[in-house]
Amino acid sequence: MYYSSTRDDSVRLTASEAVLKGLSDDGGLFVPSEFPKLSVSLDELADKDYKETAYTVMKGFLEDYTEEELKDCINKAYDSKFDTEEIAPIAEAEGAFYLELFHGKTIAFKDMALSILPHLLTTAVKKNKSDKEVVILTATSGDTGKAALAGFGSVPGTRIIVFYPKDGVSRVQKLQMVTQPDKNTMVVGVDGNFDDCQSEVKRIFGDSELRERMAKGGFQFSSANSMNIGRLVPQVAYYVYAYGKLVKGGRIKAGDCINVCVPTGNFGNILAAFFAKQMGLPIKTFICASNDNKVLFDFFKTGTYDKNREFVLTDSPSMDILISSNLERLIYLSCGCDAAKTKELMNGLSTKGVYNVTDDMKKFMDAFVGEYAVWDECADKIKSLYEDTGYVIDTHTAVAAASYDKYVKETKDKTVTVIASTASPFKFSRSVLKAIDKKYENFDDFDLIDELSKVANVDVPAAIDEIRNAPVVHNTVCKREEMKDLVLKNMGL
Ligand SMILES: *Cc1c(COP(=O)(O)O)cnc(C)c1O
Repeated sequence: MYYSSTRDDSVRLTASEAVLKGLSDDGGLFVPSEFPKLSVSLDELADKDYKETAYTVMKGFLEDYTEEELKDCINKAYDSKFDTEEIAPIAEAEGAFYLELFHGKTIAFKDMALSILPHLLTTAVKKNKSDKEVVILTATSGDTGKAALAGFGSVPGTRIIVFYPKDGVSRVQKLQMVTQPDKNTMVVGVDGNFDDCQSEVKRIFGDSELRERMAKGGFQFSSANSMNIGRLVPQVAYYVYAYGKLVKGGRIKAGDCINVCVPTGNFGNILAAFFAKQMGLPIKTFICASNDNKVLFDFFKTGTYDKNREFVLTDSPSMDILISSNLERLIYLSCGCDAAKTKELMNGLSTKGVYNVTDDMKKFMDAFVGEYAVWDECADKIKSLYEDTGYVIDTHTAVAAASYDKYVKETKDKTVTVIASTASPFKFSRSVLKAIDKKYENFDDFDLIDELSKVANVDVPAAIDEIRNAPVVHNTVCKREEMKDLVLKNMGL
């Protein structure tokens, strides 16, 4: 097995090379030449803990890592940084199974992968005898930034630069990033939205002249975005883990199909579920939940991807995205791994902002169902779920939960469903409490957090306490055109 590029058939890399590079020079994403099959039966999954499951899943994708290397990475990642030994516990509420992916250091699901990516990457550096300092270049819609900073902060041989949309993240998200103290970190607010940040980061990656200049200076880029296969692969594990736990709890029998419902932005999380299916996990339907930026909903309905529309700032900012990068991997798989075709469509996206898939491609994707929920629907869901069960979900999870309700209403499909719960409500306490009761409108952010702790009957996470009084160390704000210069300056080039 090897990794190729979605835009160039001739690319052949080992897993560790792909992790190290992050993004292909041609602008494409790395894809495995074949999907490994789960090496244990669905019955056996029931008794595996998170680390064992992660190993079972990841070893198939990361073939050139030795057992010792991979287990070492896993042990360093899924340790007491998580506030529960289960790592990804499941909460049942109103018949749905919420897979809580926010028990890591920065209380968003990005921790599931970004706790391990730095270890996979430094291992890749050693394996490939690279003598260059790795510069992690990252665009964030709010949560990747902090999770990557927490993962790479003070890791020797790396530096990390994070670009976030300066008016497009929550107060807590911003504070988490701009208070990151490590010397090897740089955090910059961009005068633009997430798509601007991500497109410019991709352009910088693709700049061959810059690459040469960096190589001479002793640097090489890598990515902490879900464009990096080293971020996608660890995400496959929690769907497999959830399945095992549902078997263990007697909720399903080994072999039964489940559905997954995922609040989606860059299409990384839901694609990881699709990868799990390719490995043999019985998943029937992938419910792809969007907020008002419902480009994916329209795509799965019509087969036309059209980003030419208003970019809406919502209460689920980590999903405010119109260019879902990881969809490119599904597009590539759907056209029979035709890199030329994928490249043609992606060119259409960057020049005209639109592309169409063929009927056959659409058919390949028919397990995906698009749904979406606007704020009123999400707020109603947060409120009713809280009032009926006492369980409080964050605004992104609410998009998924409200979308799931719509799906069930439309299809009457009663298949056991796992809803990816992607962030702690404490990260978005203003919006969450606004949904529960109007009286909170004029509260200060940190008062809201204390209030939420009482309402939800959950302790304030350490990630929040950390930033209460932490000094702001990153003040830089720039225009999109200035991003490259800041990157150069960071490296002293
Ligand atoms: C990143 C993020 C998402 C979207 O995940 P993708 O992999 O980009 O589709 C959803 N919810 C939260 C809280 C996130 O941080």
